Amino acid sequence: MKIAVIGTGYVGLVSGTCFAEWGHEVVCVDKNSDKIAGLKKGRLPIYEPDLDKMVARNHAAGRLSFTCDLVAAVTNAQVVFIAVGTPSRPGQGDADLSFVYMAAREMAPFLAEGAIVAVKSTVPVGTGDAVEKIIAHIRPYGSFSVASNPEFLREGVAIGDFLQPDRVVIGIEDGRARAVMAALYEGSLGATPLVFTDRRTSELIKYASNAFLATKITFINELADLCEKVGSNVGELALGIGLDRRIGTRFLNAGPGYGGSCFPKDTLALLRTAQDYGVVLRIVEETIVANEARKRKMALKVIEAVGGDVDGLTVAVLGLTFKPDTDDMREAPSVPLIETLQRYGAVVRAYDPVGTENAARLLEEVTLLDDPYECVRDADAVVVMTEWDSIRRIDLSRLRRLVRAPVLIDLRNAFEPGAASAAGFHVSVIGHRSDH
Ligand code: NAD
Repeated sequence: MKIAVIGTGYVGLVSGTCFAEWGHEVVCVDKNSDKIAGLKKGRLPIYEPDLDKMVARNHAAGRLSFTCDLVAAVTNAQVVFIAVGTPSRPGQGDADLSFVYMAAREMAPFLAEGAIVAVKSTVPVGTGDAVEKIIAHIRPYGSFSVASNPEFLREGVAIGDFLQPDRVVIGIEDGRARAVMAALYEGSLGATPLVFTDRRTSELIKYASNAFLATKITFINELADLCEKVGSNVGELALGIGLDRRIGTRFLNAGPGYGGSCFPKDTLALLRTAQDYGVVLRIVEETIVANEARKRKMALKVIEAVGGDVDGLTVAVLGLTFKPDTDDMREAPSVPLIETLQRYGAVVRAYDPVGTENAARLLEEVTLLDDPYECVRDADAVVVMTEWDSIRRIDLSRLRRLVRAPVLIDLRNAFEPGAASAAGFHVSVIGHRSDH
């Protein structure tokens, strides 16, 4: 199949590369000429494990190409995926659809007869209808279909998620286009369930899914607070409830609050949709409020651990990205934590294996280092913000010798509290008493 993918970010680049891996002929398009120039030379604009090798393999095989020329890319494509960003509109909370609509306007005059425009970006209910209207207005005589095909991949494990998804959701109402989309996925995914539905339900499935997961995280985070007060252990509690298959063990890791490019913006956008239709989504509303409060509260946990005052103290932050195995810093909980500590007078040093370049754009007056041991030198407190393998594997005794004061606040429960205290640290963790 000939496929065009508009947007070469985390979703577009992974999707396009995986479609090529399945044997399709894929052209990836981006407005950002630096990204395209880099991709042509094998330099990826994002960090995603193993993606570079897959891109190189498919590029070399002639199945995957990169261009800024949207017209050339869509002219022959049977399916055109829109995978551009849909960020929150600042101060509004609803999704900014300008990139989606611009892509639709740009491609409309050049779509092949019978082409399917599949919206992979996360978009509010009704966006597919609007995209259809835009294209039909510009191109009143050609035939085309607009499908919703939301993406559920997770950064850090995106290739595995794309190639072995739990399900593929396709919102489409016309039979011919449905058959093309079914052939695209069924040929390579075998028994994976394809959920066919109407476009509006498909659009809502994506938001409902993210809101549910955000709620699950927030639930365990609140239970973690209770565990700390009553002397229970949230890790064991999560296992105890999660083994009930109705609940499931995943997304029950208590931590500093969810972040990233999806949950914060998608929960807000869902709320805005509900408000527009006069529906109250109390649980989603509370999840957003609780998560924001939690992110701020984490700085107070650090301040408490150092004895109540961080003014003039050096805090070393290990891990900056919102989760391991990605360089994505969007809405990372490390940012409000660091900003709050700085407001209270702390001097902050931080380590991340791949996120420092993106972090440098968001953080001011933070010394960014690519060596964890260098980062903790003479620190008065060490905070674990992201559970990268390189952080989990840290030699705690060596760490202890480098810091000025042995205070470890492990907001990801990355270390065995016993091991950290055996190395001489006073440890503060999430969701159980840390009186080691
Ligand atoms: P991103 O910001 O990493 O990438 C978007 C890309 O689109 C950018 O490179 C930008 O230059 C390009 N672009 C914008 N307008 C364009 C146009 N008119 N023509 C060509 N290129 C254009 O975004 P992302 O993280 O990949 O997310 C894309 C969408 O997928 C969003 O709606 C997001 O909510 C959704 N999503 C993201 C994830 C994730 O983990 N990142 C997972 C599932 C769904």
